[in-house]
Amino acid sequence: MEDTHHNQGACKDAINIGISNMNALPKQPIILVVDDEPHLRNSLSAILSLHGYTTSTADGGKSAMEALANKHFDLVLLDLCMPDVNGHQVMDWIMGQQLDTCVIVVSGDSSIDSAISSLRRGAYDFLRKPYEIDELVLKIENAFSKRRLESENRAINLQLRESERWYRYMVNSSPDIIYTLDADGLCTFCNDRLESLLGYPKESIIGKHFSALVYAEDREAAQYVIQERRTGDRATRNMEIRIPHCTESKLLTLEFNSFGIYDETGSETPPIYIGTYGVAKDVTEKKKAAQLISYQAYHDLLTGLANRMLFKDHLELAIAQARRYRHMLALMFLDLDRFKVVNDTLGHVIGDHLLIEVATRLRNCLREGDTLARQGGDEFTLLLPQIDSQEDAVRTADKVIKSFGAPFQIDGHELYVSMSIGIALYPDNGDNIDILIKNADIAMYESKAKGRNRYQLYSSGMNVTFAERLSLEIQMRKALERNEFQVVYQPQINVITGKISGMETLVRWASPILGYLSPLEFIPLAEETGLIIPIGEFVLKSAFNQASLWKQAGLLPQRIAINISAQHLEQEGLVDFIAQLLREYELDGSMFEMEITENALLSDGEHIVEKLRLLSGMGIKIALDDFGTGYSSLSYLQKFPIDTIKIDQSFMRGFPGDSGNDSIVTAICTLAQGLQLNLIAEGVEEAEQYRSLHTLQCNEAQGFLFSKPLSSHDITALLMKGAPLGPQHLRPQHCFNL
Ligand code: C2E
Ligand code: CA
Ligand code: CA
Repeated sequence: MEDTHHNQGACKDAINIGISNMNALPKQPIILVVDDEPHLRNSLSAILSLHGYTTSTADGGKSAMEALANKHFDLVLLDLCMPDVNGHQVMDWIMGQQLDTCVIVVSGDSSIDSAISSLRRGAYDFLRKPYEIDELVLKIENAFSKRRLESENRAINLQLRESERWYRYMVNSSPDIIYTLDADGLCTFCNDRLESLLGYPKESIIGKHFSALVYAEDREAAQYVIQERRTGDRATRNMEIRIPHCTESKLLTLEFNSFGIYDETGSETPPIYIGTYGVAKDVTEKKKAAQLISYQAYHDLLTGLANRMLFKDHLELAIAQARRYRHMLALMFLDLDRFKVVNDTLGHVIGDHLLIEVATRLRNCLREGDTLARQGGDEFTLLLPQIDSQEDAVRTADKVIKSFGAPFQIDGHELYVSMSIGIALYPDNGDNIDILIKNADIAMYESKAKGRNRYQLYSSGMNVTFAERLSLEIQMRKALERNEFQVVYQPQINVITGKISGMETLVRWASPILGYLSPLEFIPLAEETGLIIPIGEFVLKSAFNQASLWKQAGLLPQRIAINISAQHLEQEGLVDFIAQLLREYELDGSMFEMEITENALLSDGEHIVEKLRLLSGMGIKIALDDFGTGYSSLSYLQKFPIDTIKIDQSFMRGFPGDSGNDSIVTAICTLAQGLQLNLIAEGVEEAEQYRSLHTLQCNEAQGFLFSKPLSSHDITALLMKGAPLGPQHLRPQHCFNL
């Protein structure tokens, strides 16, 4: 017999899909007539044919078994008493072979025993010979209809079993957890996914309250999911609940859809709530991806700061709040000074590390609620959403500038970088995002133009400056072609003799449109736009050319100093350019000095040292310009081949007398003597300063007291005179003896 019981374990594995082997009866049942008497056999076969049955015959037990082995028969009309193999033996054989055929015994032996033993052997019915035809046909009809019923029943059972297996398979191989809870929230069913996803064996959950699994913070929200009484569209949809993994330390986010289950079979109205059916989908990865995408959309991945988009969001919100509550806010544009230098000389990896450190340092200057964003490159923006006065913004800007005073230690490099900051205030400098950002940007450019490492509050006049900047740049490009640049020379004198010891080359721009411009007005923009390179080359060429003319006239000053911008120094080919000039004009390197500022040494790249060494190798001297204003790191003086330090002219203000400047000048003088460096004081305007410098043993001086920068023509005249500069009485008294 076929096993029609549920096979509980079978559904674990994939199964063949589809309902197979329905055992349906063939349309035309086939009957095998078995009798050793030919007459009976043939007449019976003929009668059955008349009733529409298809028949075969067998003349004994043996041939019956052969026929049954070869072909399927729906019914066997079997004589019991046969000479070779009798009917009982045939039935035993049928049972042994598990043939699906129905047997009606037709026998002359009418004893009850014979009938019973036939039925025991699986016969469907027993018919005594002789029999009425009608009786025979009725029994055959009965047998067939019973078989049909049995077959249908079997097919239904099989179908049920298959579909049960199928549904079980679908439920257990579902990518989602499927569960039912009773009216108290206790688990009554759960599919295999629970274990593979969360590590809980399902037996451990059956009978337990579902909330035991839920992450503590989500328990309250989970109540709806656990005891959902609503059905249809009102039921819980897509609720996200976090569940910790049973054994691993991870928290999964599941998306729950659950519905109330009601007993619809009972007579109660409304029907009784019996529990909850739910499906929980693992959305952990999807959620992470979504979070990452939104993080990426709103953050700068390098520094982790807000990006332009998020900043705009925050700014928009802050403006709305400020408008509503009538308070001020500040927007700052911050730009790293000379970041490009670091990037170009030390590479992007170090550039990136520096940006990360810069972001950290900036963060430390902020209060809670401020938004700091990276706009891209080396530009940052800062939003102070609520301030009481302009002073609040200034204080923060000041804090930022000061925090950049200390160097950054990046991968073994000591880097000094500074910030230029532009500040725009709401509502004074603009009442919408775009104007505030634009004005903070303009103020930032202004602070760059004014010398960097400072902040600048926006003022309405700056819009013009911004436009001027553009036109200045255009004019400057044209000026190169039109030869509008000139150089002048300012003498440097020996403090003891008062005689010219050297001169500094200074560039001028005689613009037919803008007038006679000081380098302070165009050098910062020239540096920003890269025009400083051709301008620098022009100055070098002019100075070398002039030196060669003076040499031919026998007037050669001891030294001609030339200012080299940081950007120019970084430029590939500067050293070759200078070497080429020396060859071209047949001049000795020792009569030139290149003035560089500490900024140029900032990136401390090996190749800057290398370049300075190459220049030194040609006999060219190196002066550190504007000493005292930058970082004045002593390490520079040791690391780089420096010959001269130039005390910045700002220290001459109030010197002597101003105790602050007095002590700085004194310290620098002592330092120069200690390191045996040549020392030049710049911006010397008063005789008193000259005397004090003499006392401090500063060996050279430069300034209006002796001479303004002069044209080459005027300098030639001075050189020809060869006299000490400045009135005799101004020089220190005891100089006369020397
Ligand atoms: P710097 O190198 O410090 O040059 C000295 C500046 O101080 C010059 O201004 C000079 O005219 C001015 N000065 C000289 N003596 C006195 C004085 O007694 N009192 C006062 N108040 N000022 C005095 P200048 O020529 O306007 O140059 C300004 C700056 O522009 C220079 O400062 C230098 O950094 C830059 N610069 C000038 N020429 C060049 C150049 O050819 N190339 C580059 N890269 N920069 C240049
Ligand atoms: Ca200089
Ligand atoms: Ca200087």
